[in-house]
Amino acid sequence: MVATNGTSTLDLDRAGTRPGALIDPFLRAITYLRVSVTDRCDFRCVYCMSEHMTFLPKADLLSLEELDRLCSAFIAKGVTKLRLTGGEPLVRRGIMTLVSSLSRHLESGALKELTLTTNASQLEKYAAELKSHGVERINVSLDTLDPDKFRAITRWGDLAKVLAGIDAAQAAGLQVKINAVALKGVNEDEIGGLLAWAHGRGMDLTVIEVMPLGDIGEDRLDQYLPLSMVRAGLAEHYTLEDIEYSTGGPARYVRVKETGGRLGFITPMTHNFCESCNRVRITCTGTLYMCLGQDDAADLRGPLRASESDDLVHAAIDEAITRKPKGHDFVIDRRHRRPALSRHMSVTGG
Ligand code: SAM
Ligand code: SF4
Repeated sequence: MVATNGTSTLDLDRAGTRPGALIDPFLRAITYLRVSVTDRCDFRCVYCMSEHMTFLPKADLLSLEELDRLCSAFIAKGVTKLRLTGGEPLVRRGIMTLVSSLSRHLESGALKELTLTTNASQLEKYAAELKSHGVERINVSLDTLDPDKFRAITRWGDLAKVLAGIDAAQAAGLQVKINAVALKGVNEDEIGGLLAWAHGRGMDLTVIEVMPLGDIGEDRLDQYLPLSMVRAGLAEHYTLEDIEYSTGGPARYVRVKETGGRLGFITPMTHNFCESCNRVRITCTGTLYMCLGQDDAADLRGPLRASESDDLVHAAIDEAITRKPKGHDFVIDRRHRRPALSRHMSVTGG
């Protein structure tokens, strides 16, 4: 059963049974935390970062122990799904220590899923270890299978390494979902090829509309491709059947009849999905963003460092959730060429 705001009553029941569970003013249960463990990355994707980024001084970052403490505070408050992201999560030094320590919450049953979103550049090295710590599914971002285009989009990336990472992940038994950002005039003719490749390897594919986050030194209107056009293009070659499948995220899925695989569309620009939002995000400096598309935030590093007890952190989280907004209002058109928000996607990890 689904409440009028899209929150399933099952979610509310599940979170509501815990004392101090996180329910926002619109009765959405907050059960999903995304953690950006670093703002740094070994790529410079054209839609995500400018070529010359200034990153945070390492001293400003939460330590791995502090990240663990913060994640554990959210888990104590009913968060059941945790995604590590970035920047590139696998370039954070010692990241496997964090994955390993968080896996105790999987073992206790408090956490249902520990996962990550990665560019896969380092995945060959870490895939087996991720699996051994209880990670079952990961998202890999990949916008093209053409090595030259891949280099152009990521500025610094090597497609062969990414493909080796995906091979290693599948060999380790990880379920892989591919995320591709649809870019006008760049990969719009390739989405069908990506689909056939991903489904041929037993991986779901999700396409994402480019969002106006952060100054990237380019015009967003030049990049923006509405997914309605991608879908129309795919429908000329494939039979797309609407299905009810949901991972609890913003993607709407279809089944591709010819391949049997699933294809997701994330359309923040053309279709607002905020009514069922169950998530919040923390940055690597311990700032809590209650919405990907709004600036309002809460500092959790101060309360975390002020006391060894978690009481102050719990109080700060509770207070922040009372400020979770109803939704975002991104616009990219000729009158709105500037970023809707000054922060880059790598701050909150998408
Ligand atoms: N580095 C990792 C990766 O690329 O998977 C994790 C962080 S990255 C910020 C997370 C996701 O955000 C990626 O799938 C990326 O394609 C997407 N992304 C980055 N900037 C975006 C933007 N402006 N609009 C839409 N998606 C974006
Ligand atoms: Fe790095 Fe991911 Fe941003 Fe690309 S999308 S620059 S891989 S953080």
